[in-house]
Amino acid sequence: MDQQKLQPWQAKQSADLYGIERWGNDYFGLSNDGHVTAKTLNTEVALLDIVKGMVERDLQMPVLLRVENILDAQIKRLSEAFSDAINNASYTQPYHGVYPIKVNQQAQVVEEIADFGKRYHHGFEVGSKAEMIIALSTLEPGRLIVCNGYKDEEFIDLGLQALKLGFDCFFVIETPSELPIIIERSRAINVRPMIGIRIKMISQVSGHWNSTSGDRSIFGLTATQLIDVVDGLRQEGMLDCLKLMHCHLGSQIPNLEDIRNGVIEASRYYVDLVREGAALTHIDFGGGLAVDYSGIQSEDNHSRNYSLEDYCKTMVETLKATLDNEAIAHPIIVTESGRAVVAYASVLLFNILDTTTFESTVESLAEPGENPLLAKLRDVSNQLTKENIEQSYELVHQYRNQIRNGFKEGQVDLRCRATAENIFLDALHNIADVLDVMDEIPSTMEGLKLSLADIYYGNFSLFQSLPDIWAIDQLFPIMPIHRLDEEPSRQAILADITCDCDGKIDNFVGQTEPQKTLPLHPLKVGEEYYLGVFLVGAYQETLGDLHNLFGDTNVVSVRLNRDGSFDFVKEMIGDTIADVLSYVEYEPKQVELNYRNIAERAVQLGRITVAERQEMIKAFRASLQGYTYYEREH
Ligand SMILES: *Cc1c(COP(=O)(O)O)cnc(C)c1O
Repeated sequence: MDQQKLQPWQAKQSADLYGIERWGNDYFGLSNDGHVTAKTLNTEVALLDIVKGMVERDLQMPVLLRVENILDAQIKRLSEAFSDAINNASYTQPYHGVYPIKVNQQAQVVEEIADFGKRYHHGFEVGSKAEMIIALSTLEPGRLIVCNGYKDEEFIDLGLQALKLGFDCFFVIETPSELPIIIERSRAINVRPMIGIRIKMISQVSGHWNSTSGDRSIFGLTATQLIDVVDGLRQEGMLDCLKLMHCHLGSQIPNLEDIRNGVIEASRYYVDLVREGAALTHIDFGGGLAVDYSGIQSEDNHSRNYSLEDYCKTMVETLKATLDNEAIAHPIIVTESGRAVVAYASVLLFNILDTTTFESTVESLAEPGENPLLAKLRDVSNQLTKENIEQSYELVHQYRNQIRNGFKEGQVDLRCRATAENIFLDALHNIADVLDVMDEIPSTMEGLKLSLADIYYGNFSLFQSLPDIWAIDQLFPIMPIHRLDEEPSRQAILADITCDCDGKIDNFVGQTEPQKTLPLHPLKVGEEYYLGVFLVGAYQETLGDLHNLFGDTNVVSVRLNRDGSFDFVKEMIGDTIADVLSYVEYEPKQVELNYRNIAERAVQLGRITVAERQEMIKAFRASLQGYTYYEREH
């Protein structure tokens, strides 16, 4: 222990502390000089260098960074892992993935998936007319489109036209009432539809989204409804149109055993639907492939107890075993992985604006005639042992409270109270030091460390950029992107710049379990301190809201090159204040006019000169066109 203390802190200690190799999936690493790097194609680029490029381009923090190569690499890994599993198991049909657009609908992401996914026959899953229109305008004919969700006549017409154009467009029937519309419209348009059927699985899965499966799931057809749909199709002479069977167990499924059970159940449905006469060619296992956000490889909700290879192998082998047993031909395997495809490619970067520490500000020495409670407080603080720790903890609170009460009653003055608070804080820090060397922390003192943690104020809005932290306590890896060759000597929680007390983060990835505080470095005067929130590519961008009218952040896409350089390939300027005002129905021109009038009246009243008015209006206009986040003056 002491030995280690004498040696200078090494970047690899930071790597272990923050777990970057455990959750980074080989896309993020640490360089020896203490920088987080993005890695692909055997090259490595320091995120701080990318940030420097942003600063040079006047792209202010916060910025959402997308690394396009990582998105490409995930599609490649997914498709190749399935191909390998298929080859190893001598499964006779290929894998075709579809990307569910709802997971990240941003044009830059969807277009990249369409483009790079072409070589793997990667298609799209759509859940609404709007997403359908994205798919039809982004993919070319021949690609797979799976339509889930409730479909009205217009949605169905779009899909039938797509079939005519040559897309492999499946309607997945989610409720029996959709069938008559599909039959009627396909006759009117004169095209034979490609129909899918969503089954309601009984298999329960653990995790956040477990209600997507089981008896009370709002999705899918029950056994009775399935038979009705099959009979309905047979009556219409359309059973040959039933080509796809769909199931979706939920998102972020942490336990491989749940997936195996789901596939077993789905395979039985598949066998019997074929026996009923359906001309099935595709089986679609939906989403659910989890991301190991905490990097602990366990059945925890923020983790997963399997690798991508395990996932593919389990699906392929489990399906094959059932089908071969029943002598049923193999279908094309489809999955709708969203989270796992896009999560890794995005990092939210922001700077720290300020900190609050909970430490005594001055050393307080005994003074003649001072309140005797101060001496008592000092004594407790100076005589701490492992044995008296609980009692001391109680005593310092007791003396501190007596001082506070005395203040309320007018018997203790403000200066004395301030001194007491200082000694009290000192005492708590001393107690925390003793706790550090104890094997077991007394239950009454569990919250102590958290209550002493610094608050680091970050230039971001939780509600806009990380809504799942607020909504469902999602855990994302967070760490500084530089200075990692220095020991992070502070323990902190993060606060955002909204004035909402929920705008804070106090749950962090730890070495074995989540931690309430994050180790960070003290700020240096005149130097920015940058943090990254990793694995935020899935579900965060469009669920965010305009809390306190903080808008979309700047977005930058980079592409890493084999020679270790990188290019800024796309940038999107975040919302201006005028933009967010117009989202809530203000008219920016009118807003400015109102201000001009107020300033004109001030001129009339002699409060300001005309020249001052012009300066004020200029500044006001610049604000309207400015970024909604904290901007550093240059
Ligand atoms: C949301 C959703 C997905 C995506 O799930 P992930 O866990 O993100 O892969 C896939 N299919 C359907 C039907 C969905 O609703």
